[in-house]
Amino acid sequence: MLRYIGIDTGGTLTKVAYFNEQHELQFQAFPSKDLQAVKQWIERRADLEAIGATGGRTEQLREVVGEQHPLHYIVEFEATIKGVRYLLQQEHHSFDRCIVVNVGTGTSIHYMNGAEHTRVGGTGIGGGTLIGLAGLMTGITDYAKIKDKAVQGQRNGIDLLVKDIYEGMDTPIDGNLTASNLGKIAIHHQFDQQPEDLLATVQGLVGEVISTLGIQYAWQYDVEEIVYIGSTLGDNVHLQRVIGDYTKLKKRKPIFLPHSGFAGALGALLSQRGIE
Ligand code: ADP
Ligand code: MG
Repeated sequence: MLRYIGIDTGGTLTKVAYFNEQHELQFQAFPSKDLQAVKQWIERRADLEAIGATGGRTEQLREVVGEQHPLHYIVEFEATIKGVRYLLQQEHHSFDRCIVVNVGTGTSIHYMNGAEHTRVGGTGIGGGTLIGLAGLMTGITDYAKIKDKAVQGQRNGIDLLVKDIYEGMDTPIDGNLTASNLGKIAIHHQFDQQPEDLLATVQGLVGEVISTLGIQYAWQYDVEEIVYIGSTLGDNVHLQRVIGDYTKLKKRKPIFLPHSGFAGALGALLSQRGIE
C-alpha cells in the first residue's frame, strides 16, 4: 500500500520519494526527458491518494499524468529545505543555521535558519556543466562513467597551481591551491590529455566554483556548516573530495547527506503527510 508520494521534477532528473509498508524511505529517479516512464510508474500504484509535486517541470508532469492523479504543488525551495531538515535529523545533526548548496543541473544556494530560509544566490555552474564539459572534452556523457573515471584522474598536468607559478619561491598562499583551472593548457598548449585527467579537471573546476561560493555565503551569514546536496554529488567520491577539502581549508564544515538528491521529493512527500 502506497498512499503518498513526493515528486521533484528537475531540469535533468525526476526524483520520487515514498515510504514503503515497513515505513522505510524509498527513492527512485527517472530522466526528466522521459516523463512517460514516471507516468507508467505512477499508474502501477493503485492505492495512491496524494502526490506532492515540486520542481521546474511540474506543469509538464501535470500534463502527462492527467486529471486522474492531481498534483499538489509545493514551491521548490520550501520542499528542498523541508527535505534537508529531515535528512539532517536522520543523521543526528543538531545545528539550526547553515548554508545549503543545492548542486543540481545548476546550483542554488540558501541560508537556513531554523524553519526559515532564504535563497541567497546561485550559479549556472552545476551538474549540467559537469556533463556538458565532460561530453565536449572526452565524448563521455554518462554520469556514472564520469565519476568513476574522474577518481582515477590527475589534475596536475592541466590545472596551474599556485606553487607552479611561484616555482622555487615561498608562496603567498597555500601552494597546492589552484591558481588557474586548466591554466597549464593555456600556457603549454598540450591537448593530448587522458580522459580520466580531463574528467578530474572538470570536476575540480565545478567543485571549486561551487565551494568557493558556498564558503563566501557561510562567511557572510557567519555560519560554520555548509550542507552540499543534489544528485550531482551522489556517491561521487572525487567531487565530494574537491568540495570537502576546499571547504575545510577555509575553516568551514562540509556536510554531505545520503540521498540528498532527493531532498525536494522528500519535502514534497512530507508536506502531503503533514509531517515536518
Ligand atoms: P535537477 O533537479 O536540476 O534535475 P539534480 O539534483 O537531480 O538536478 O542533479 C542533476 C545532476 O546530477 C546532473 O546534471 C548530473 O550531473 C547528475 N546525475 C546524477 N545521476 C545522474 C543520472 N543517472 N543521469 C543524469 N545525471 C545524473
Ligand atoms: Mg533540483
